[in-house]
Amino acid sequence: MGIKVIDLLNNTDKTLFSFELLPPLKGEDIEAIYYTIDPLMEFNPPYINVTYHQEEVVYRKVKENLLEKRTIWKRPGTVAISASIKYKYKVAVVPHIICGGFTKEETENALLDLNFLGMNNVLAIRGDAPPDTKIFIPEKGGHHHALDIVKQIMKLNKGVYLDEELENKKSTSFSVGVAGYPEKHPESPNLDSDIHFLKKKIDAGAEYIVTQMFFDNNSYINFVEKCRKAGIKVPIIPGLKPIAALSHINYLSKTFSIDIPDALVREILKCKDNNQVRKVGIEWAVQQSKELIKYGVPVLHYYTMGKPDNIRKIAEQVF
Ligand code: FAD
Repeated sequence: MGIKVIDLLNNTDKTLFSFELLPPLKGEDIEAIYYTIDPLMEFNPPYINVTYHQEEVVYRKVKENLLEKRTIWKRPGTVAISASIKYKYKVAVVPHIICGGFTKEETENALLDLNFLGMNNVLAIRGDAPPDTKIFIPEKGGHHHALDIVKQIMKLNKGVYLDEELENKKSTSFSVGVAGYPEKHPESPNLDSDIHFLKKKIDAGAEYIVTQMFFDNNSYINFVEKCRKAGIKVPIIPGLKPIAALSHINYLSKTFSIDIPDALVREILKCKDNNQVRKVGIEWAVQQSKELIKYGVPVLHYYTMGKPDNIRKIAEQVF
């Protein structure tokens, strides 16, 4: 088994670089993943996260006034992709395990596949609500909240499988991270309530938190202080994403309920095209990164969204 993320976090005396990538769209090959990773390896990420995306229901027009309901899986392959990254780049990999679309048995099978392939880090996540309904509905026989995945993993770590009669059960040794939201999760009534449920994930055995993206470091610092007051003592890794297009300022705040600071919006609105927006986004993220390093964060975690160029430009100035 490889190194655990929690051990990396506890044993570093400088801020580390890590990033998250999306599995490529169905039909693409592993080169699409290497395309994202190769330019970033120079900055020595000790681990890389790989997201998980559940199937989506789409309605396609087949005739006038007739829609056909189809289930499509746009980005399959998280387990296989994670294994290929681990063995090609010799880094720890953190595949995301989600509630959405999984029964408990399927969750157990996915975890055992990871364990079998030598991966012992996961990020336990509920999964996004489908864009059409915006309401998260768990799979029949699956989990409703990330907390329930954390509990299932902790049982597996003690050798407790779903099938009590299974013989020769071996304990797994997963290190689990969970998501946190400096500006609260969109469905949460307020930040205190969200932190209340976040603490339950930590009390259940999660060892660190990775945050949703934010553009004002004060949101992160305020969140960390509130978590500490609530008794959450684990490392809290800031997640950063550079704005790369004019459309992002509306899209990100609408999709993730994130506040974009006025100063950033004003700089973006001055830009003549998206090349200029990208430059502003990079400068802002560099500034955020440098401040967060001074604040003493163990890792800076960047959301690549499959596009390494701007993350590379940030890393060149920060690491
Ligand atoms: P939960 O912890 O289940 O929380 C969801 C909401 O329910 C919150 O409002 C919380 O306060 C509340 N809540 C929590 N526990 C309880 C409880 N026991 N009872 C009542 N209310 C409760 N999505 C993907 O589809 N794939 C990914 O790979 C992915 N990776 C992500 C990585 C990070 C770092 C982050 C921040 C998000 C990621 N997401 C991903 C998005 C995520 O799935 C959504 O934000 C989702 O809506 C919530 O996930 P969660 O794990 O925070 O859920």
